[in-house]
Amino acid sequence: MPRTKADIERDIESCSKRLQEIWKPFNEYESNRLRGYGGDREYQMSLENQARNNSVGLRNQIDRLRDELDEYSRDPVAYQKKQVCIDENNRREQERIAKENRREQERIAYEKKREQVRISVEKLHEQNRIAKMTEIASSKSNFEIAQKLKPIREHFSQYQDCFSAGNGHMSRLTSDGNVVSGGIWANFSNRKVLCNTQNWHKVVAISSGEGTIGLKADGSVIADGCQFQKENLHIAREYRRAINSWYNIIAVSASCSADYPFDYNFVGLKSDGTVIAYGHKFNRKPVGYSAVIARWCNIVAISAGAFHVIGLKKDGTVVAVGDRWGNQRNGNDFCDTRDWREMVAVSAGKRHTVGLKADGRVVAVGDNEDGQCETQYWENVVAISAEPSQTIGLKANGTVVATGKNKGFCTNWKDILAISGKSGLKTDGTIVSSYTADYYKDLSNIPLVTKIQLREKFKLCSYCGSKLSFSKKCKSPICGK
Ligand SMILES: [Zn+2]
Repeated sequence: MPRTKADIERDIESCSKRLQEIWKPFNEYESNRLRGYGGDREYQMSLENQARNNSVGLRNQIDRLRDELDEYSRDPVAYQKKQVCIDENNRREQERIAKENRREQERIAYEKKREQVRISVEKLHEQNRIAKMTEIASSKSNFEIAQKLKPIREHFSQYQDCFSAGNGHMSRLTSDGNVVSGGIWANFSNRKVLCNTQNWHKVVAISSGEGTIGLKADGSVIADGCQFQKENLHIAREYRRAINSWYNIIAVSASCSADYPFDYNFVGLKSDGTVIAYGHKFNRKPVGYSAVIARWCNIVAISAGAFHVIGLKKDGTVVAVGDRWGNQRNGNDFCDTRDWREMVAVSAGKRHTVGLKADGRVVAVGDNEDGQCETQYWENVVAISAEPSQTIGLKANGTVVATGKNKGFCTNWKDILAISGKSGLKTDGTIVSSYTADYYKDLSNIPLVTKIQLREKFKLCSYCGSKLSFSKKCKSPICGK
């Protein structure tokens, strides 16, 4: 709204009034003096100076307003146009200032926000850093534990393949490479010896399950058990034909029984890191597990389960293949070892699979009906053995832990060197066992022998058991020693 003449005059009037107010003390003093009162010249001058100083601004303003009034009187239209312009400019200026203020506030808010973000990011980084440090610290301690356990594990493993206990029977190797066995067989209770190993010679490793398989120094294998008894001639022929074709074998494993008669598996690890398996069941599948197993490579250890076969790879991962129908009972897949890392040993039970980690902890998957997979709190374990419904672990101090059915059997065991089945081999060469039968006592007076001693005796690589070349180098591409 542009200013009118009345507005200007009103402004002049109000300025004049304020001017009069300022001059009032001086004027009053002056009028009193003229009437004959007072007369302090100096005081009067001080009042005058004060009023003059205070009225400078007002006078200037009145001058400007008078000029404005002149301008208006000369050309009201031009004046008003000018006023509109000035108002517009003022408005713009105010807007500009408001805008600037707003921007400034926004900038401050943004800075504040950015600082908050920076702080929160820094906090997050710090948390991550701490988490990482904790992780490194724990992995370092795990690493230290692993370093500590490694020599103990390697020492104990020397006795592992020289002593093996299966279902109701047990075998031990002598320092000559002969195999001494003893046992009973539930289906043939009159028969004293299940595994006729009397004529087995130059054997460097044995594994007992439902039957017994022996690894010979020349890389071939020999086996015996229920399926080889003369009552089962056709099955025995099948098994023999398959097993006799194996060569370059460096490790063997025999499974416990599945739910069907004669349904057990023999698995062999070859020196090139591949695996060969035979079982009654394997043969009957149009596309059997044998085809899957044939594709495995870089395997350093094997274990035969009743329904599955597992292989430990050189990089510490685990491969598994098998009949998973058993898992449908409890919804646990006993072949699910995909996430397993840093494993140093594996063992297959009937419907569960167990893995030993380098840091002495034990993982297990599969059927947990009897608690056979409850190994999560085990520590300092250096060897494992999965039984049909149990898991057994040998600790670095020579004691044994067990979980699953009748798990308390090994509570008092000590000075154990190797475990197999529900039996243990002690440092004095004697055997402890949960079996009620006393046949194993006959096996207690055989002197201890190690895998290395036998390998050296038969001129095999002492690390992996492969044949040595003429220049005494290991022929295995996996071992390379
Ligand atoms: Zn080797």
